Amino acid sequence: MFNVKTLNAISPIYEEFLKGNEYNVSAEAEHPEAILVRSADMHSYEIENELLCVARAGAGVNNLPLDKLAQAGVVAFNAPGANANAVKELVLAGLLLSSRKIAEGIEWCRGLTDGETSIEKQVETGKKQFIGPELAGKTLGVIGLGAIGVQVANCGVTLGMEVLGYDPYISIEHAWKLSRAVEHSTSLEEILEKSDYITVHVPLMDSTRDLINAAALAQMKPTAALLNFSRDGLVNIEAVKAALENDKLRVYVTDFPCKELIGAKNVLLTPHLGASTPESEDNCVRMAAQQVNDYIKYGSIVNSVNYPNCKLTRLSVPRICLLHQNVPNVIGSITKVLSEEALNIENMINVSRGGYAYTVVDVGHAPSERLVKKLGELDTMYRARLLMPAK
Ligand code: NAD
Repeated sequence: MFNVKTLNAISPIYEEFLKGNEYNVSAEAEHPEAILVRSADMHSYEIENELLCVARAGAGVNNLPLDKLAQAGVVAFNAPGANANAVKELVLAGLLLSSRKIAEGIEWCRGLTDGETSIEKQVETGKKQFIGPELAGKTLGVIGLGAIGVQVANCGVTLGMEVLGYDPYISIEHAWKLSRAVEHSTSLEEILEKSDYITVHVPLMDSTRDLINAAALAQMKPTAALLNFSRDGLVNIEAVKAALENDKLRVYVTDFPCKELIGAKNVLLTPHLGASTPESEDNCVRMAAQQVNDYIKYGSIVNSVNYPNCKLTRLSVPRICLLHQNVPNVIGSITKVLSEEALNIENMINVSRGGYAYTVVDVGHAPSERLVKKLGELDTMYRARLLMPAK
């Protein structure tokens, strides 16, 4: 039985992967082999020797001490893309809100009173002030084609839009998911100049802060709509306000309200609702729980944020999992120790990421406890763990 400690309230959907007969999952679990966490800050958490992995049921990992965990032989996971569908749906709402004056129309209807002129008559005469264009046939520029951007771009195609996508670092996984109808832009300028709707889906980093600044806004069509459901720092608020006031931008739709934007003209605000769906919270927990189970039982590492990923098949022979420093001669020292018990190497994988590496050795027969301990005591080793196939 493995102990899994929950540091925040976690949806019981984890039971799909962490079954009750193999895992004891609770907030009170002691000496846990795994931790499921949402937002609890783990920077001062005392890491016990039993701890094998920490899985964050969400995307950001600011609350995890990644190096401290790695050096204690603890693999940290997150759940990238688990909320992509939720964000995509809100972006679609944002596109519609920015074209059809729906929010303004709803607000106007709220104030209608039945009097001399019937409500129906007021509606028929009043509706012309809320005319707004269709999305079909317009150009949608998507900046950042990751988990969310790809889904937004593909939906744009389904809505009959011309879609331009820009992402100089697109992953192979996401490139495969992108509709062939999405046109590949090789420059940000092209997206800015050609698009009627521009939506930003890149992470906030030093290199992307103020990505949409005064210079970028000056390249956009004055009739364009700008959508930001990614992070507030990606768009320079002063520049957006100036563009809106000078009719250089038609509308700004964002999930990140701030004092400068409250009450501003042609701004539509949602209160950071991107991932706020029960499904997305469940998806995060589901991914986190699956990753914990696959690592604890098979040594498979998927979506790690401190060690390299290493997707492994289930076990058919004993498997030795080794987390270590990414430095020369480690493999030589591992095989030297294995040779003490004449262990035949059936399969061996070594992957690295920055200063950390993971070596997995499938061996012909079970090594002794002494040998696994000796591997764990090598200078460069953070953890050695033996997994045995189910009988
Ligand atoms: P992701 O990591 O899957 O994709 C990000 C993409 O941006 C990657 O493909 C990367 O190559 C690309 N990129 C990086 N720098 C770029 C640049 N300078 N120009 C163009 N592309 C660049 O992330 P995701 O899951 O798609 O999420 C995107 C962002 O959405 C997150 O970073 C997060 O800030 C935000 N988000 C917001 C909410 C919300 O509640 N509104 C919820 C989830 C995520």
